[in-house]
Amino acid sequence: MSTLRETLAAGGRSFSFEFFPPGTAAGERTLWDAIRKVEALSPTFVSVTYGAGGSSRDRTVALTRRLAAETTLRPVAHLTAVGHSVTELRHIVGQYADAGIRDVLVLRGDPPGDPRGPWVRHPEGFGYAHELLRLVKSLGDFTVGVAAFPERHPRSPDWDSDIRHFVAKCRAGADYAVTQMFFHVEHYLRLRDRLDAAGCATPVIPEIMPATDARQIRRFAELSDADFPADLAHRLESARPADAHRIGVAYATAMAERLLDEGAPGLHYITLNRSTAALDVHRAVLATRGLSAR
Ligand code: FAD
Repeated sequence: MSTLRETLAAGGRSFSFEFFPPGTAAGERTLWDAIRKVEALSPTFVSVTYGAGGSSRDRTVALTRRLAAETTLRPVAHLTAVGHSVTELRHIVGQYADAGIRDVLVLRGDPPGDPRGPWVRHPEGFGYAHELLRLVKSLGDFTVGVAAFPERHPRSPDWDSDIRHFVAKCRAGADYAVTQMFFHVEHYLRLRDRLDAAGCATPVIPEIMPATDARQIRRFAELSDADFPADLAHRLESARPADAHRIGVAYATAMAERLLDEGAPGLHYITLNRSTAALDVHRAVLATRGLSAR
Protein backbone atom coordinates (compact mmCIF):
# COMPACT_ATOMS: atom_id res chain seq x y z
CA MET A 1 0.00 0.00 0.00
CA SER A 2 1.42 3.40 -0.94
CA THR A 3 1.95 5.99 1.79
CA LEU A 4 -0.23 9.07 2.07
CA ARG A 5 2.80 11.11 0.97
CA GLU A 6 3.17 8.99 -2.17
CA THR A 7 -0.56 9.12 -2.96
CA LEU A 8 -0.65 12.92 -2.76
CA ALA A 9 2.71 13.45 -4.49
CA ALA A 10 1.42 11.34 -7.41
CA GLY A 11 -1.60 13.66 -7.71
CA GLY A 12 -4.04 11.16 -6.17
CA ARG A 13 -7.00 12.32 -4.14
CA SER A 14 -7.32 11.62 -0.44
CA PHE A 15 -10.67 11.07 1.28
CA SER A 16 -10.55 11.02 5.06
CA PHE A 17 -12.66 11.19 8.21
CA GLU A 18 -11.87 12.80 11.56
CA PHE A 19 -12.85 11.36 14.96
CA PHE A 20 -12.22 12.36 18.56
CA PRO A 21 -11.66 10.09 21.57
CA PRO A 22 -14.95 9.76 23.48
CA GLY A 23 -15.06 9.96 27.28
CA THR A 24 -17.95 7.55 27.97
CA ALA A 25 -18.87 3.96 27.20
CA ALA A 26 -21.92 5.14 25.21
CA GLY A 27 -19.70 7.52 23.23
CA GLU A 28 -17.32 4.65 22.56
CA ARG A 29 -20.14 2.53 21.09
CA THR A 30 -21.32 5.38 18.85
CA LEU A 31 -17.75 6.00 17.72
CA TRP A 32 -17.08 2.36 16.79
CA ASP A 33 -20.36 2.13 14.93
CA ALA A 34 -19.25 5.18 12.90
CA ILE A 35 -15.74 3.76 12.40
CA ARG A 36 -17.06 0.48 10.99
CA LYS A 37 -19.35 2.34 8.54
CA VAL A 38 -16.46 4.54 7.41
CA GLU A 39 -14.17 1.50 7.11
CA ALA A 40 -16.57 -0.10 4.62
CA LEU A 41 -15.83 2.77 2.21
CA SER A 42 -12.02 2.29 2.36
CA PRO A 43 -11.05 5.94 2.92
CA THR A 44 -7.45 7.05 2.44
CA PHE A 45 -7.09 7.70 6.18
CA VAL A 46 -8.93 8.47 9.40
CA SER A 47 -7.56 10.89 11.98
CA VAL A 48 -7.95 11.20 15.74
CA THR A 49 -7.85 14.64 17.40
CA TYR A 50 -5.57 15.38 20.35
CA GLY A 51 -7.15 16.82 23.49
CA ALA A 52 -6.13 19.79 25.59
CA GLY A 53 -4.76 17.65 28.41
CA GLY A 54 -4.85 14.68 30.79
CA SER A 55 -6.88 11.58 30.15
CA SER A 56 -8.25 12.67 26.79
CA ARG A 57 -4.67 12.64 25.47
CA ASP A 58 -4.16 9.07 26.66
CA ARG A 59 -7.45 8.17 24.99
CA THR A 60 -6.20 9.65 21.70
CA VAL A 61 -3.09 7.49 21.83
CA ALA A 62 -5.10 4.39 22.80
CA LEU A 63 -7.75 4.93 20.09
CA THR A 64 -5.18 5.60 17.38
CA ARG A 65 -3.25 2.46 18.31
CA ARG A 66 -6.47 0.42 18.38
CA LEU A 67 -7.38 1.69 14.91
CA ALA A 68 -4.00 0.44 13.68
CA ALA A 69 -4.39 -2.94 15.40
CA GLU A 70 -8.06 -3.77 14.83
CA THR A 71 -9.14 -2.16 11.55
CA THR A 72 -7.99 -1.97 7.95
CA LEU A 73 -7.85 1.84 8.23
CA ARG A 74 -4.76 4.06 8.09
CA PRO A 75 -4.83 6.14 11.30
CA VAL A 76 -3.32 9.63 11.35
CA ALA A 77 -2.50 10.80 14.89
CA HIS A 78 -2.99 14.48 15.70
CA LEU A 79 -0.31 15.76 18.09
CA THR A 80 0.03 19.20 19.67
CA ALA A 81 2.88 20.98 21.46
CA VAL A 82 0.61 22.23 24.28
CA GLY A 83 2.03 21.53 27.74
CA HIS A 84 4.55 18.92 26.55
CA SER A 85 8.32 18.81 26.96
CA VAL A 86 10.33 17.53 24.01
CA THR A 87 11.00 14.34 26.00
CA GLU A 88 7.26 13.70 26.38
CA LEU A 89 6.65 14.38 22.71
CA ARG A 90 9.39 11.91 21.76
CA HIS A 91 7.75 9.31 23.99
CA ILE A 92 4.32 9.77 22.37
CA VAL A 93 5.76 9.54 18.87
CA GLY A 94 7.58 6.39 20.02
CA GLN A 95 4.27 4.86 21.16
CA TYR A 96 2.85 5.48 17.67
CA ALA A 97 5.90 4.06 15.96
CA ASP A 98 5.67 0.91 18.14
CA ALA A 99 2.12 0.40 16.90
CA GLY A 100 3.20 0.74 13.27
CA ILE A 101 1.68 4.21 12.88
CA ARG A 102 3.63 6.35 10.43
CA ASP A 103 1.28 9.31 9.98
CA VAL A 104 1.12 12.35 12.26
CA LEU A 105 -0.72 15.68 11.92
CA VAL A 106 1.44 18.15 13.85
CA LEU A 107 -0.16 21.19 15.45
CA ARG A 108 0.85 23.85 17.87
CA GLY A 109 -2.50 23.51 19.65
CA ASP A 110 -4.35 26.19 21.60
CA PRO A 111 -4.02 27.10 25.28
CA PRO A 112 -6.22 24.82 27.46
CA GLY A 113 -9.29 26.48 28.95
CA ASP A 114 -9.50 29.62 26.82
CA PRO A 115 -8.31 28.83 23.26
CA ARG A 116 -7.88 32.57 22.69
CA GLY A 117 -5.84 33.09 25.86
CA PRO A 118 -2.11 33.78 25.83
CA TRP A 119 0.00 31.00 24.36
CA VAL A 120 2.50 29.73 26.95
CA ARG A 121 5.36 27.63 25.67
CA HIS A 122 6.39 24.66 27.85
CA PRO A 123 9.83 25.55 29.28
CA GLU A 124 11.28 22.43 27.68
CA GLY A 125 8.93 22.31 24.71
CA PHE A 126 8.08 24.06 21.46
CA GLY A 127 6.47 27.37 20.50
CA TYR A 128 5.39 26.58 16.94
CA ALA A 129 4.19 23.64 14.88
CA HIS A 130 7.22 23.71 12.58
CA GLU A 131 9.45 22.79 15.55
CA LEU A 132 7.29 19.78 16.38
CA LEU A 133 7.29 18.85 12.70
CA ARG A 134 11.11 18.79 12.65
CA LEU A 135 11.15 16.59 15.75
CA VAL A 136 8.68 14.05 14.28
CA LYS A 137 10.59 13.94 10.99
CA SER A 138 13.84 13.35 12.89
CA LEU A 139 12.36 10.36 14.72
CA GLY A 140 11.55 8.19 11.71
CA ASP A 141 10.04 7.97 8.25
CA PHE A 142 6.73 9.64 9.13
CA THR A 143 4.32 11.26 6.69
CA VAL A 144 3.53 14.55 8.40
CA GLY A 145 0.60 16.90 7.87
CA VAL A 146 0.08 20.46 9.16
CA ALA A 147 -2.86 22.83 9.66
CA ALA A 148 -3.90 25.47 7.11
CA PHE A 149 -6.33 28.35 7.60
CA PRO A 150 -8.46 29.51 4.63
CA GLU A 151 -9.57 32.55 6.63
CA ARG A 152 -6.09 33.15 8.14
CA HIS A 153 -4.93 31.89 11.53
CA PRO A 154 -6.77 33.94 14.19
CA ARG A 155 -3.44 34.94 15.78
CA SER A 156 -1.82 36.08 12.52
CA PRO A 157 -1.69 39.87 12.39
CA ASP A 158 -1.96 39.95 8.57
CA TRP A 159 -2.00 37.72 5.50
CA ASP A 160 1.66 38.31 4.63
CA SER A 161 2.96 36.90 7.92
CA ASP A 162 0.36 34.12 7.91
CA ILE A 163 1.43 32.90 4.46
CA ARG A 164 5.14 33.39 5.22
CA HIS A 165 4.96 31.22 8.35
CA PHE A 166 2.75 28.61 6.66
CA VAL A 167 5.16 28.31 3.74
CA ALA A 168 8.10 28.02 6.17
CA LYS A 169 6.21 25.21 7.95
CA CYS A 170 5.71 23.42 4.63
CA ARG A 171 9.36 23.86 3.68
CA ALA A 172 10.36 22.36 7.03
CA GLY A 173 9.04 19.10 5.56
CA ALA A 174 5.22 19.01 5.64
CA ASP A 175 3.88 16.43 3.21
CA TYR A 176 0.39 17.95 3.12
CA ALA A 177 -1.93 20.27 5.02
CA VAL A 178 -5.54 19.97 6.19
CA THR A 179 -7.60 23.15 6.52
CA GLN A 180 -9.65 24.54 9.32
CA MET A 181 -13.41 24.26 8.65
CA PHE A 182 -14.83 26.91 6.31
CA PHE A 183 -18.19 27.44 4.63
CA HIS A 184 -17.39 29.45 1.48
CA VAL A 185 -15.35 27.76 -1.26
CA GLU A 186 -13.87 31.18 -2.17
CA HIS A 187 -11.88 31.23 1.08
CA TYR A 188 -10.11 28.02 0.07
CA LEU A 189 -9.51 29.25 -3.49
CA ARG A 190 -8.03 32.54 -2.28
CA LEU A 191 -5.69 30.67 0.10
CA ARG A 192 -4.60 28.45 -2.79
CA ASP A 193 -3.91 31.52 -4.96
CA ARG A 194 -1.81 33.05 -2.19
CA LEU A 195 0.17 29.83 -1.79
CA ASP A 196 0.66 29.56 -5.57
CA ALA A 197 1.97 33.14 -5.59
CA ALA A 198 4.38 32.23 -2.78
CA GLY A 199 5.63 29.20 -4.75
CA CYS A 200 4.22 26.67 -2.25
CA ALA A 201 3.00 23.43 -3.84
CA THR A 202 2.16 21.49 -0.65
CA PRO A 203 -1.22 19.72 -1.17
CA VAL A 204 -3.88 21.43 0.98
CA ILE A 205 -6.84 19.15 1.76
CA PRO A 206 -10.04 21.08 2.54
CA GLU A 207 -11.95 20.12 5.68
CA ILE A 208 -15.68 19.56 5.22
CA MET A 209 -18.02 20.08 8.16
CA PRO A 210 -21.58 19.14 7.17
CA ALA A 211 -23.66 21.76 8.98
CA THR A 212 -26.86 20.05 10.04
CA ASP A 213 -27.37 21.78 13.39
CA ALA A 214 -27.16 25.58 13.17
CA ARG A 215 -26.52 26.22 16.85
CA GLN A 216 -23.73 23.69 17.14
CA ILE A 217 -22.03 24.84 13.96
CA ARG A 218 -22.28 28.48 14.99
CA ARG A 219 -20.45 27.61 18.19
CA PHE A 220 -17.68 25.83 16.25
CA ALA A 221 -17.56 28.63 13.70
CA GLU A 222 -17.18 31.22 16.48
CA LEU A 223 -14.35 29.22 18.06
CA SER A 224 -12.54 28.98 14.74
CA ASP A 225 -13.57 32.46 13.51
CA ALA A 226 -15.20 30.84 10.43
CA ASP A 227 -17.49 32.99 8.33
CA PHE A 228 -20.77 31.03 8.58
CA PRO A 229 -23.33 31.90 5.83
CA ALA A 230 -26.30 33.74 7.35
CA ASP A 231 -28.77 32.30 4.81
CA LEU A 232 -27.69 28.72 5.62
CA ALA A 233 -28.00 29.43 9.35
CA HIS A 234 -31.49 30.81 8.80
CA ARG A 235 -32.58 27.81 6.71
CA LEU A 236 -31.21 25.35 9.28
CA GLU A 237 -32.79 27.15 12.21
CA SER A 238 -36.24 27.21 10.64
CA ALA A 239 -36.14 23.56 9.46
CA ARG A 240 -37.29 20.37 11.20
CA PRO A 241 -34.37 18.03 12.11
CA ALA A 242 -34.78 15.72 9.09
CA ASP A 243 -34.96 18.71 6.75
CA ALA A 244 -31.99 20.36 8.48
CA HIS A 245 -29.99 17.19 7.81
CA ARG A 246 -30.94 17.28 4.11
CA ILE A 247 -30.14 21.01 3.81
CA GLY A 248 -26.77 20.65 5.54
CA VAL A 249 -25.78 17.59 3.50
CA ALA A 250 -26.79 19.31 0.24
CA TYR A 251 -24.76 22.43 1.10
CA ALA A 252 -21.67 20.42 2.07
CA THR A 253 -21.99 18.18 -1.01
CA ALA A 254 -22.13 21.22 -3.32
CA MET A 255 -19.04 22.64 -1.59
CA ALA A 256 -17.21 19.31 -1.81
CA GLU A 257 -17.98 18.88 -5.51
CA ARG A 258 -16.89 22.41 -6.36
CA LEU A 259 -13.66 21.99 -4.39
CA LEU A 260 -12.85 18.80 -6.31
CA ASP A 261 -13.75 20.52 -9.62
CA GLU A 262 -11.29 23.25 -8.65
CA GLY A 263 -8.55 20.65 -8.17
CA ALA A 264 -8.54 20.16 -4.39
CA PRO A 265 -6.36 17.10 -3.54
CA GLY A 266 -9.16 15.44 -1.54
CA LEU A 267 -11.64 16.02 1.25
CA HIS A 268 -11.31 15.63 5.02
CA TYR A 269 -14.68 15.16 6.72
CA ILE A 270 -15.40 16.07 10.32
CA THR A 271 -17.68 13.37 11.71
CA LEU A 272 -18.22 14.42 15.35
CA ASN A 273 -18.10 10.61 15.79
CA ARG A 274 -21.46 10.25 14.02
CA SER A 275 -20.73 9.28 10.50
CA THR A 276 -24.20 9.85 9.01
CA ALA A 277 -23.88 13.35 7.54
CA ALA A 278 -20.24 12.93 6.47
CA LEU A 279 -21.00 9.60 4.81
CA ASP A 280 -24.08 11.01 3.09
CA VAL A 281 -21.91 13.78 1.62
CA HIS A 282 -19.13 11.37 0.68
CA ARG A 283 -21.46 8.86 -0.97
CA ALA A 284 -23.08 11.68 -2.98
CA VAL A 285 -19.65 12.92 -4.09
CA LEU A 286 -18.57 9.41 -5.13
CA ALA A 287 -21.83 8.77 -6.96
CA THR A 288 -21.91 11.98 -8.97
CA ARG A 289 -18.22 11.89 -9.89
CA GLY A 290 -17.82 8.15 -10.45
CA LEU A 291 -14.90 8.18 -7.98
CA SER A 292 -13.80 5.42 -5.67
CA ALA A 293 -12.06 6.01 -2.36
CA ARG A 294 -8.69 4.44 -1.68
P1 FAD B 1 1.51 27.27 13.95
O1 FAD B 1 1.79 26.80 12.57
O2 FAD B 1 2.63 27.18 14.94
O3 FAD B 1 1.00 28.78 13.84
C1 FAD B 1 0.40 29.44 14.95
C2 FAD B 1 0.53 30.96 14.76
O4 FAD B 1 1.92 31.33 14.88
C3 FAD B 1 0.12 31.45 13.36
O5 FAD B 1 -0.44 32.74 13.50
C4 FAD B 1 1.43 31.52 12.60
O6 FAD B 1 1.40 32.46 11.53
C5 FAD B 1 2.38 31.98 13.70
N1 FAD B 1 3.77 31.54 13.48
C6 FAD B 1 4.20 30.36 13.01
N2 FAD B 1 5.54 30.31 12.99
C7 FAD B 1 5.97 31.49 13.49
C8 FAD B 1 7.27 32.06 13.74
N3 FAD B 1 8.39 31.36 13.46
N4 FAD B 1 7.35 33.31 14.28
C9 FAD B 1 6.21 34.01 14.55
N5 FAD B 1 4.97 33.54 14.33
C10 FAD B 1 4.85 32.29 13.81
N6 FAD B 1 -5.98 21.53 18.12
C11 FAD B 1 -5.87 20.60 19.11
O7 FAD B 1 -5.65 20.96 20.28
N7 FAD B 1 -6.02 19.26 18.84
C12 FAD B 1 -6.24 18.81 17.58
O8 FAD B 1 -6.33 17.60 17.37
C13 FAD B 1 -6.36 19.76 16.53
N8 FAD B 1 -6.60 19.35 15.26
C14 FAD B 1 -6.64 20.28 14.26
C15 FAD B 1 -6.82 19.85 12.94
C16 FAD B 1 -6.86 20.76 11.90
C17 FAD B 1 -7.04 20.27 10.49
C18 FAD B 1 -6.74 22.15 12.17
C19 FAD B 1 -6.80 23.15 11.04
C20 FAD B 1 -6.58 22.61 13.46
C21 FAD B 1 -6.51 21.68 14.53
N9 FAD B 1 -6.33 22.08 15.85
C22 FAD B 1 -6.22 21.14 16.85
C23 FAD B 1 -6.26 23.51 16.19
C24 FAD B 1 -4.83 24.06 16.13
O9 FAD B 1 -4.02 23.42 17.09
C25 FAD B 1 -4.92 25.55 16.40
O10 FAD B 1 -5.65 26.18 15.39
C26 FAD B 1 -3.60 26.25 16.60
O11 FAD B 1 -3.87 27.58 17.04
C27 FAD B 1 -2.80 26.43 15.32
O12 FAD B 1 -1.91 25.48 15.21
P2 FAD B 1 -0.84 25.49 13.99
O13 FAD B 1 -0.31 24.14 13.99
O14 FAD B 1 -1.38 26.06 12.75
O15 FAD B 1 0.25 26.55 14.59
